[in-house]
Amino acid sequence: MRILAIAAIAALTAVGACSSPTVAIAEDVSLPGEPLRKIVVETQEDYADAIKLVQPGDMIVLANGTWRDFDLVLEAEGTAEHPIYLVSEEPGGVILSGQSSLRMGGRHLVVSGLVFRDGYTPRNEVISFRRDSETLAFNSRVTRTVIENYNNPDRAQRDTWVVMYGQNNEFDHNHLSGKLNSGPTMTVRLNTEDSQNNNHRIHHNYFGPRPVFGSNGGETLRIGTSHYSLTTSGTLVENNYFDRCSGEVEIISNKSGENIYRGNTFNQSRGTLTLRHGNDTLVENNLFDGNNAPYTGGVRVINARQTVRNNMFRNLNGERFSGALVVMNGVPNSPINRYHQVDGAVIEQNSFDRVGTIELGEGSDTERSAVPINSAFRNNLVMGSGAETPFNLYDDMSGIAFEGNVTNLAPPEALASGFTVLNADEQAPSGVGAAGAFGVERSETGVSWYPKPSSDSPFGTGKTIEIEPGENKIAQAMATAEAGDEIVLAPGAYNEAKSINLQIPLTVRAAEVGTVDLSFERRNLFLLSSTGGLKLSGLNVTGGAAPDAVGNSFIASTARGGTGNHVVELSDMVFTDFVVNRGFSILTAAKGTFFDRVEVRNSSFKNISGVAFKFDAETDDYGIYNVEYLIVRDSEFENVRGSIASIYRGGRDESTFGPHAFISDSTFVSVGAGSEPLAVLHGVQNMSLEGNTLEQTEAAQLVITTGKPKVVLSNNTNAASDAIDALVTKDLRQ
Ligand code: CA
Repeated sequence: MRILAIAAIAALTAVGACSSPTVAIAEDVSLPGEPLRKIVVETQEDYADAIKLVQPGDMIVLANGTWRDFDLVLEAEGTAEHPIYLVSEEPGGVILSGQSSLRMGGRHLVVSGLVFRDGYTPRNEVISFRRDSETLAFNSRVTRTVIENYNNPDRAQRDTWVVMYGQNNEFDHNHLSGKLNSGPTMTVRLNTEDSQNNNHRIHHNYFGPRPVFGSNGGETLRIGTSHYSLTTSGTLVENNYFDRCSGEVEIISNKSGENIYRGNTFNQSRGTLTLRHGNDTLVENNLFDGNNAPYTGGVRVINARQTVRNNMFRNLNGERFSGALVVMNGVPNSPINRYHQVDGAVIEQNSFDRVGTIELGEGSDTERSAVPINSAFRNNLVMGSGAETPFNLYDDMSGIAFEGNVTNLAPPEALASGFTVLNADEQAPSGVGAAGAFGVERSETGVSWYPKPSSDSPFGTGKTIEIEPGENKIAQAMATAEAGDEIVLAPGAYNEAKSINLQIPLTVRAAEVGTVDLSFERRNLFLLSSTGGLKLSGLNVTGGAAPDAVGNSFIASTARGGTGNHVVELSDMVFTDFVVNRGFSILTAAKGTFFDRVEVRNSSFKNISGVAFKFDAETDDYGIYNVEYLIVRDSEFENVRGSIASIYRGGRDESTFGPHAFISDSTFVSVGAGSEPLAVLHGVQNMSLEGNTLEQTEAAQLVITTGKPKVVLSNNTNAASDAIDALVTKDLRQ
């Protein structure tokens, strides 16, 4: 093998070997053949020269280091015997940052060992299996490559990290984690004949956490589109690990024919593998393990001849669209982008172990009236620890033949003949339920040299910083703090003269609850961007020193500095005197920003002139919203001129589980100045009001815009109203 520096290539004709430094190629990259020569490049200019001269069997080696703004194009023609390689000098040694991307065109290309981070793509893709619409990649492979947190700072800007075009391509052992902005993490496109019947293989990849996006467009993998859904894709998705992929209701959106999903693990991921469009899909030997987390589901079945067999579904908490198994009703003579009738589905030999629900005829309504036909549900094992069967029937299920199933929970009457019910001490007979191996171990996916994310809580993972009272002490401490640190305030008075831009999660707490007084002199004390988050505890905060300006808010989010998902926790806090202008808030979300969770506990709010918690910046009715969970409990609000919360989720699509609003065991006195509701919950999908007391306060208002919101009301009292409870509902559907 020859190892060449770029300068030597041009001189290479009939000359013999030339000397050059040795390159350590990733040991874990299994190559289909030995490269004939290696070409080391150290600059983008070198690369441009090298790619012109590249021949089958060549390996272009990117030197270790950070390559900024690299519009990397690998267009070349290798052969099956002698592919053309593009690799990093060492695995993980090459960082592509800034506005970098990779496009491939040609045949028999192999890319390995790159890391994309600290930036985002200026194009529609980070890695594209085509150079442009004319030049696609075939028989090519991307392996051992990492894309992490490579997000456009504008959440609404849509891109996709990996897009496969062409045919016979392979994407394996890659690590894709932390996508936040709009657009699926990865897609397979079928938009020309050259990309159909594609025989792609997607395997042993680690799909890391994808937090809730807060709108449609948060899928982790999509294969096809509704437009091409009746054509054959023929993609194999095997032995991948989907770890907390919770962007929206579809973890995977299958929208084409004859794909296979085999041996994948879905760990604690919200939503389902959705067979949204296209026919003849096979789903087998997968493990769906929800770890009892909310909205964790399994497979949602739509269309013709879908097979779901030998899968393990366990500890899944989801219901309705995120049930462990969901068989949808279709639309008669459905347009291509609506719901085709389930016809010929075979659901056999699966195990359902402690799952929330199995939904049959889900979506049944006047439009979705076509029930499943010619289908079978057989030899499945359905076990639970509770008393109730997980089956819910929303329509006539006589088009599904139930046979040979076993359960320990009495099934609904309509299905009873298809089940044997076990007694407590009985074992399930063999041949029923899933057998063999399911899913894949996390460690067998992705790469060994790049860490997989662990903890979910952003707080309390770092060191403690103790500070004394005085001017700007919190800002000073935050300037040196690292993500997860905790700042502890000694008793006394603290004043902050400037707004604090916070891009990491931090805890700020009083050494002793109630001994710290905090004031601030700007419109906002905390401005959150990037992954900024706050856990505040035990502080007495006044808004009295803030200026008489419009839109004051103690905490606000901003898209300047990059967007991430924020978490704010307030406990044992006292807020008073937020009245220097009309509309002073405690927390305000800016348009284009998103809070995973805002949780208020054991806190008091007195004399607030605006809406206390404001999540209503997304008024375009695109289905976008600003907060996933707002939780208020054991708290007191008195003399709040606006509502205590305003949440706005417009749009009619059914792609999100949220927003959620849970308000319990709290007291509200003179909230809304006699006219505004306790809370304005527009398009909220899941809400509860429990154990609250309202005085001189109007009931909360729920505006239903889409879906079937879950509403729990109990034990609220409202001295001012004869309303049954603390809620007034307005329905805008149809
Ligand atoms: Ca979707």
